[in-house]
Amino acid sequence: MPDQRTQSFHVKHLSKISEDIYQVHLVTEDSKPLSFAAGQYLQLLLPDGDPCSYSIASAPSRNRNDLELHVQCYPGHKRVQQVIDHLSSGVSIYATLPHGNCHLGECPDTPLVLIAAGTGFAQMKSMVEFTRQQKHNHPVSLYWGVQHSEGFYLPHLPVQWSREWGVQYYPVVSEADTQDDWTGRHAHLYRAVIDNLNPLDDAHLYLSGSPDMVYTMLDGLIVAGVNENQIHSDVFDYAPREPSSD
Ligand SMILES: Cc1cc2nc3c(=O)[nH]c(=O)nc-3n(C[C@H](O)[C@H](O)[C@H](O)COP(=O)(O)OP(=O)(O)OC[C@H]3O[C@@H](n4cnc5c(N)ncnc54)[C@H](O)[C@@H]3O)c2cc1C
Repeated sequence: MPDQRTQSFHVKHLSKISEDIYQVHLVTEDSKPLSFAAGQYLQLLLPDGDPCSYSIASAPSRNRNDLELHVQCYPGHKRVQQVIDHLSSGVSIYATLPHGNCHLGECPDTPLVLIAAGTGFAQMKSMVEFTRQQKHNHPVSLYWGVQHSEGFYLPHLPVQWSREWGVQYYPVVSEADTQDDWTGRHAHLYRAVIDNLNPLDDAHLYLSGSPDMVYTMLDGLIVAGVNENQIHSDVFDYAPREPSSD
């Protein structure tokens, strides 16, 4: 039975914005507004193979029938090259949405700590823009961790959020590299978050990245005294931890 959430789109815009990241804008073919919450993702349906999940990088809005994706495609990654080829081919694009329980259906009435690794930034971009729409009146902190500074594929945007909206922005580069002219913080994302953390405040924390990154962060946050109920990630649903044998 077809998924009732299937929607057809055309590609309004696709461009390469860094060495390996494409920014994509999709528009619904029936012009109807889209329904999703900030932080949710869609699954692109390719002509063959499994669906591919992508965070929706734009914030929802009542009358909007378009959305933004950030697609990473590094050399030799056949599956993602198929995604880019499909998006570039001019055909109708089918996707199911919305997916994911890690979202801001309503903004919690608390500070927010948003933690992104790599393209995890897409999910957090949607959330930051939504907090602005909602006039969320608590502090919002954004940590963005990458391996090399070129990984900040929209480097000016969070700086602008910081200047204009008061978002506390912490960019972190994990690999020390002599070729890299990064003069900001070199650290593991985990270290940067834990060093600044105030476990006594009631902030809700949202994590986006690989399961390894998310579970390492989760364990560190709990040891630091954060209540597990305040930590959210899609990883907990799509890559649940094996129950321990002891
Ligand atoms: C919920 C979810 C959201 C994703 N969002 C994006 C996105 O916005 N941009 C993007 O380029 N890729 C994203 N991905 C990864 C993308 O779906 C895959 O790279 C693509 O489908 C190719 O499939 P693969 O099995 O070859 O992936 P692989 O490249 O082998 O990677 C798949 C794994 O990458 C991890 N992953 C990578 N990026 C993300 C991310 N941003 N959020 C969460 N997990 C991630 C997940 O653990 C996933 O299981 C997302 C994956 C998931 C599960």
